[in-house]
Amino acid sequence: MAITVPQNQSYQYQDVKVLYVEDEVFSREKLLRILNRRFSDVHVAIDGEEGFLLYKQHLPDLIIADIKMNSMSGLEMIQNIRKHNKKAQIIVTTAQDDNETFIHCIDHSVNQFILKPIDLDRFLLAIQKSVQQIQHEKELCKQNLLTRALLETQDHVLFIVEHGHLVDFNHAFSSFTGIEDTNSLHKSNLVANLFVEDPNYFYPKDKENWIDEFFQTEKNYAKVMWKSQTDKQGIYLMKASHNTGDEQILFVCTEISALEEEYKKNEILSSMDPLTRSLNRTKFEELLSSEIRRSERYNHPFSIILMDIDYFKNVNDYFGHQKGDEVLVTISTIVQQRIRESDVFARWGGNEFILLTPETNSQGAMVLAESIRSLINHFAFPEIGSVTCSFGVAEFSVGKSKRELISEVDQARYQSKIKGRNCVTV
Ligand code: GH3
Ligand code: MG
Repeated sequence: MAITVPQNQSYQYQDVKVLYVEDEVFSREKLLRILNRRFSDVHVAIDGEEGFLLYKQHLPDLIIADIKMNSMSGLEMIQNIRKHNKKAQIIVTTAQDDNETFIHCIDHSVNQFILKPIDLDRFLLAIQKSVQQIQHEKELCKQNLLTRALLETQDHVLFIVEHGHLVDFNHAFSSFTGIEDTNSLHKSNLVANLFVEDPNYFYPKDKENWIDEFFQTEKNYAKVMWKSQTDKQGIYLMKASHNTGDEQILFVCTEISALEEEYKKNEILSSMDPLTRSLNRTKFEELLSSEIRRSERYNHPFSIILMDIDYFKNVNDYFGHQKGDEVLVTISTIVQQRIRESDVFARWGGNEFILLTPETNSQGAMVLAESIRSLINHFAFPEIGSVTCSFGVAEFSVGKSKRELISEVDQARYQSKIKGRNCVTV
């Protein structure tokens, strides 16, 4: 049906498209005049079939429809429209006021219901209400677009969670995680499954409540290790911003994988003795302290072994400092090949090495020390020949301090020297 739209008129409701469906000529002409005065874009249909065609063509924001019509009924048309659009405002006008019609209208999420003969004031009020709702939706849509544009301008991985569910994310997020399917977003807590368990990074004990645990860290950031659905791994600094009164939490994740790798390399280097590639004294003392705490808590034994090269000064004097260095490296290698993964081996000082043997009493440590002594004793050092070491062994017991333990092992080592060297003293 042709629409007559007056030119250069300012309308009460800008930017709202209307579809009006009514089979009865008199009512139609009357309401159309009213609508045309208020809306610039009104489409009119005389039955449900034409109405649905026009709907698909123009995608109106507001649909005003009679229910009982020839060919496709108004309800059928509304049902079809709802399949495409859950947000359009629908006002039903009808002479029927039976319960069944009313229930059908509710089933199809009809927004408002006006009985015929139409009371003009009521009709105008209903339109005003629907238009407000439409404008509100449009505003929300604009805001969402703006948010989306902002999200996409970021290289950081961004995602938004609402009531524990992932509701939005940017391209960087989907390209790392492989999560693209917006339909499954509400079904499961996809983010929780990205965390990798590692003592250096935040890992939720209860994945269902990972956000609560995240905020319990009392900071609004945490370092996390993530593994994507496609097995990509990355380390991120994750920050959360939560506006009070707002249900949504924005998470911003900055990738720090390269930085972390650098940090770990530096940490390893700073805890190593550069010559012998064993741990340095500072690192050893740190590990010894934590072993003491562990032993006190679980009542597990552990021992330490201190070894000192015999007459090492002579090696330097006769064969040169360079050869002396080679001896230090060789002895370090011999010991490292003999000990277990869980043992901690370090250079204690110039020609002294120290060993921490977890879950080992003094008896076991003595056997180990004896075997290392024998290995070194029987090793033929190029040019030099034989080199020996003296050993001290001490076992930790609850109540002993770190200083006391070290002093004990130093005494034992001293005893070995007095006894004539190349031996072990407990
Ligand atoms: P003892 O049997 O009593 O242990 O006699 P020793 O000659 O080994 O005496 P001491 O244990 O006091 O050894 C200290 C010597 O170790 C002095 C120094 O020349 C040597 N030394 C310490 N650090 C290094 C190093 O990094 N390289 C070399 N080549 N020698 C070192
Ligand atoms: Mg020595």
